Amino acid sequence: MNEHVTTDEVTVIGGGLAGMTAAWELARLGLPVRLLEAAPDLGGKTGSRRIDGRTEDFGVHIFPSFYRNTHRLLADLGLGGSLRPTTKFHQLRPSGTAKARSAEGLLFLYGVVDLLAQDYRNRDQSLYEFLNSRRYLTEAAVADIEHFFLASTASEIRAASAAEFRGSIAAFVRRPGRVRMPRGDLQHWLIDPFRRRLEARGVKVHTEHRLTAVTTAGRHLDSLTLSTPVHTTTEPVTGHVVLAVPHDRVTALGPELTGALRPAHGVRELNSRPLGALHLYLRRRLPGLPAEHVRLVDSPHAITLLDIGQNWTGHRSTVLNCVVGRVERLAHLPEEEAVAVLVDELRGYLPGLDPEDIEHVCFQPHLEAPYFTPGPGADRHRPHTATALTNLHLAGDHTASPPGMTAMEGAVASGLRAAESVRRALRPQLPPVRIDDLPTVSPGAARLVRTALAPLMALARTRAGRRP
Ligand SMILES: Cc1cc2nc3c(=O)[nH]c(=O)nc-3n(C[C@H](O)[C@H](O)[C@H](O)COP(=O)(O)OP(=O)(O)OC[C@H]3O[C@@H](n4cnc5c(N)ncnc54)[C@H](O)[C@@H]3O)c2cc1C
Repeated sequence: MNEHVTTDEVTVIGGGLAGMTAAWELARLGLPVRLLEAAPDLGGKTGSRRIDGRTEDFGVHIFPSFYRNTHRLLADLGLGGSLRPTTKFHQLRPSGTAKARSAEGLLFLYGVVDLLAQDYRNRDQSLYEFLNSRRYLTEAAVADIEHFFLASTASEIRAASAAEFRGSIAAFVRRPGRVRMPRGDLQHWLIDPFRRRLEARGVKVHTEHRLTAVTTAGRHLDSLTLSTPVHTTTEPVTGHVVLAVPHDRVTALGPELTGALRPAHGVRELNSRPLGALHLYLRRRLPGLPAEHVRLVDSPHAITLLDIGQNWTGHRSTVLNCVVGRVERLAHLPEEEAVAVLVDELRGYLPGLDPEDIEHVCFQPHLEAPYFTPGPGADRHRPHTATALTNLHLAGDHTASPPGMTAMEGAVASGLRAAESVRRALRPQLPPVRIDDLPTVSPGAARLVRTALAPLMALARTRAGRRP
């Protein structure tokens, strides 16, 4: 142990899923852990907030089966039962428009296989570049792939990494299973019980503790400045620190810190975009609405929705929890006007929805808390867990991960990696922290499928007509 690190204590900063996971694993190793979170509650983007007397999720969250680390964590916490399997994803087209032709569906499928056939080990491109170079794709098929992507992330295809998208599609193909969703709001079903288990394991949780500055000395993190609603204090770092805050918050800590990350200052090159949430409480049940996830095809603001009124207990009428992929387009509008635009868009798909039906609205554009999706080539900038400071470790969904391991699974895996990094420093005699890989498909195997599908694709292309 070096002269600066004199205790075994680990301070985890940031109480989102990444920080909570790190704290949980570190406490399992028998280390004294404290978890500091700036907000009044834990959970970060996987949590909820009290708004107008209601518990509102940051946004609807779904848990695909390939989230192996996340599902293992939930089982370990005894919270596997908080999720229920969904049977199907639904697609709603604007009322009055025709269903997609099967030829377009085949081209969509062939495009996905073609993406899987790409070897992105040493290169990357934007999803836009990939789609635009596929001459067999019709405009409708491109739009469908684009919307499919946009609806699940906040990213536009020009700003999205094709390698990342390939990674998550490959994981999904290898582990299709049923996507799971929470039985109720994330606070009650996930975050509150997680916090109780952390505390039962001895983790000291302090909310409303914001890290505002750090200093370094040689190869060590030397001090932390923490602000609470009543005071600001600077304390020496005598143990290890896991920094599990979003990348823009890491950057805000200054060049002394970002220069110590690997790669140095890479974090400053990362970008995030807001992914909004619109929750509409209706006075009645809207007839004919599916009980599971719905993607609004061609929706200008890339809306997906879930009627939690049919899924969560305590609701007698429809409650539409919408995720808005293109919320940034509304950033210039006052909230009321932005909501009116979105409601109008919804009515194009749900003709039964009358503005008079809406009893309460909660709109969270999340412009201040954007969501990270890697852009093309972003991998070379994403910071690694271990840093040049021997007592500083990084976690969070933006940290370096295999392609496709993003969002909640990325956050959980990063928390596990941070715990492993601390274990190596403080408890090398203990077994390593288990971290599961993302299942994947080899480009070679996908090429074989692509070859087998080529005659069908040619037929479908003739039927659908060439793209202008
Ligand atoms: C609307 C929406 C829907 C989503 N849907 C899905 C989904 O369906 N499936 C999926 O897998 N993912 C989804 N995500 C993404 C997922 O929520 C995130 O990837 C994940 O929660 C990130 O976790 P994290 O711990 O890395 O970061 P965060 O959740 O951002 O946690 C960081 C924490 O650090 C705290 N913090 C920040 N600065 C400081 C500071 N200076 N001092 C102390 N604390 C600080 C923050 O308050 C926060 O609690 C969605 C995101 C959004 C916005």
